[in-house]
Amino acid sequence: MAPSETVLVVGGGPAGIEAARGIADLGVRAVLVEERERLGGTPIFEHYAALTPYFEDAEAAMDGMIAELGERPLADVRVSSRVTALAGEAGAFTATVEGPGGTSEVEAAAVILCTGFTHFDPGRERQIYNYYQYPDVLALQDLEVMLKAHDVRVPSTGEPPRRICWIQCVGSRDRNIGNEYCSKVCCGIASKQAIEVRKLAPDCRAYVFYIDMRMYGYWEQQLYWPAQEQHHVQYIKGIVTEVLERGGGGGGLLVRGEDTTMGRPMEVPMDMVILSVGMEPSDGTRAMAQLMGVEQNKYGFVEVAHPPLDTVSTKRPGIFAAGAALGPVDLEDTVSSAGAAATKAVALIRRSSLAVA
Ligand SMILES: Cc1cc2nc3c(=O)[nH]c(=O)nc-3n(C[C@H](O)[C@H](O)[C@H](O)COP(=O)(O)OP(=O)(O)OC[C@H]3O[C@@H](n4cnc5c(N)ncnc54)[C@H](O)[C@@H]3O)c2cc1C
Ligand code: SF4
Repeated sequence: MAPSETVLVVGGGPAGIEAARGIADLGVRAVLVEERERLGGTPIFEHYAALTPYFEDAEAAMDGMIAELGERPLADVRVSSRVTALAGEAGAFTATVEGPGGTSEVEAAAVILCTGFTHFDPGRERQIYNYYQYPDVLALQDLEVMLKAHDVRVPSTGEPPRRICWIQCVGSRDRNIGNEYCSKVCCGIASKQAIEVRKLAPDCRAYVFYIDMRMYGYWEQQLYWPAQEQHHVQYIKGIVTEVLERGGGGGGLLVRGEDTTMGRPMEVPMDMVILSVGMEPSDGTRAMAQLMGVEQNKYGFVEVAHPPLDTVSTKRPGIFAAGAALGPVDLEDTVSSAGAAATKAVALIRRSSLAVA
């Protein structure tokens, strides 16, 4: 039997959009299923402001990708839709898709999972940073919303902050909560945000408390050194053990911990504290991996069959994954893996066609 000439892509964030675009450009039909009302993924629905490392507007960047996909007649985009079942095997899958128009069946030779990530919930497991108790303790994505509006203010007072800090590795590199992995992007995102805050409010002092800074590739000279040398962001190697309210509330925050370079305890007053939360698999990644019988690692991210040289094939033939469904990743690597997955999915169709002929 000739294989289906369609690839099903699940998840319409940067990975899914790029995968669908790649498949269509290779002359194959792509059905892209996104559960939300619009494409764009986490950068859009979490209102990211500027993207690392070039400070490009996130919404404009994603709109550009979406517009390019719209120019491909071979890309069939289904928003507000979900895959509820998958039967068959590589070359001949049948997916049940539920959407606004009802239930339909999609015949596909291959599937690419692009279901992405979610931010670590800083209120989970331990409450040492009091994220849900203190309005002036925020997470990276909360500050992105303010940066997008070009208006950074201390939530409890409505005033611009005079002292702001980032606490790195919240929910990452933490054996106690079982997330031993590094989330890769948060050192760069914190540095990018510190630069943006210093540009918006030059009188505000900015501090980053870190275990060790892990800048990604060229981000070292694109973000880390400019943050220090041009924008005077202060990096302090230290472990924060507590965030408290000064004077029991109304007087700002107190960051308590240990300055590990100086080897002494520290207590630093702050107006705002930003928790550099890590990346975890989205509920959709966990659910789709389970529904499609694809193995997940102990953290819930999709496991690939043959790392490090094949980064996108799962152990189930015909099912591939890309982007943050595979683990913490930035946009560059997200679109790279999406391109690789698109190529492998189309190659599966081409190889089977040759075998049938
Ligand atoms: C605070 C923060 C800021 C960041 N800023 C940057 C930056 O400036 N530069 C950079 O390079 N990287 C940045 N990143 C990383 C970047 O956001 C990710 O690399 C990228 O979003 C991954 O894209 P994705 O498509 O794999 O996943 P996502 O963006 O998470 O998209 C997944 C999509 O799948 C959909 N989905 C999920 N489950 C289902 C399902 N069951 N059915 C259908 N659809 C489903 C979701 O609705 C979503 O649209 C940042 C990360 C964080 C945490
Ligand atoms: S990128 Fe930085 S903040 Fe994020 S987990 Fe790794 S070391 Fe920690």
